Amino acid sequence: MARPQLPGLDHLTVNTIFCIGRNYAEHARELNNPVPKNPVVFTKPASSLIFDGDSITIPEFTNEVHHEVEMVVAIGRDGKNIPEADALDYVAGHAIGLDMTARDIQSRLKEKSHPWDLAKGLDTFAPLGRFFPPSQLPDLSDTRLTLTRNGQTVQDGTTADMIFTVPNLIAWLSKHFSLSAGDLIFTGTPEGVGPVTKGDRLVAQLGENLSTLSVSVK
Ligand code: ZN
Repeated sequence: MARPQLPGLDHLTVNTIFCIGRNYAEHARELNNPVPKNPVVFTKPASSLIFDGDSITIPEFTNEVHHEVEMVVAIGRDGKNIPEADALDYVAGHAIGLDMTARDIQSRLKEKSHPWDLAKGLDTFAPLGRFFPPSQLPDLSDTRLTLTRNGQTVQDGTTADMIFTVPNLIAWLSKHFSLSAGDLIFTGTPEGVGPVTKGDRLVAQLGENLSTLSVSVK
């Protein structure tokens, strides 16, 4: 499968999709997880991506798929060991995204201390909105992210509550991995995660209409 171009950043093709777990303290608490001292990192395959107007498919082997609304950062330049002070120079854009999670599978994996890929990386489990340039974001450190499910608000948070900021995350990731143009970082979800069912309509938003994502569930 060809790697898709990033919506709004047509010069970039998707590379590695990094995701950060437990980056909002209230969300860590709602799942009875400790607040981490270092970022919790996992990845999703490019095959998990879908875009505005597409549908999330719930596979038959899970009975509990949760929504997690997240700000997504696109990396625009290659880098390694990036200092926090320079980190924002590597950002090509921001978008809203959903880190869909088969919570029942994840719970079983966590019990065995296994990786989360089978719960997080499934086809259609990374819906992604349109990117806009950093210059259009009024305040990276206090940007609202919201999710409605069938018209009802289910998540409403702000990046002000992130435990690790975007510069923290870029510095941390680039210490361990070479970052490349086209990498994505799903930066974690605020509290309010919950189940979706077939027939649902999910609408996620970053800021005041900066990036909007509408997907159905089937
Ligand atoms: Zn997440």
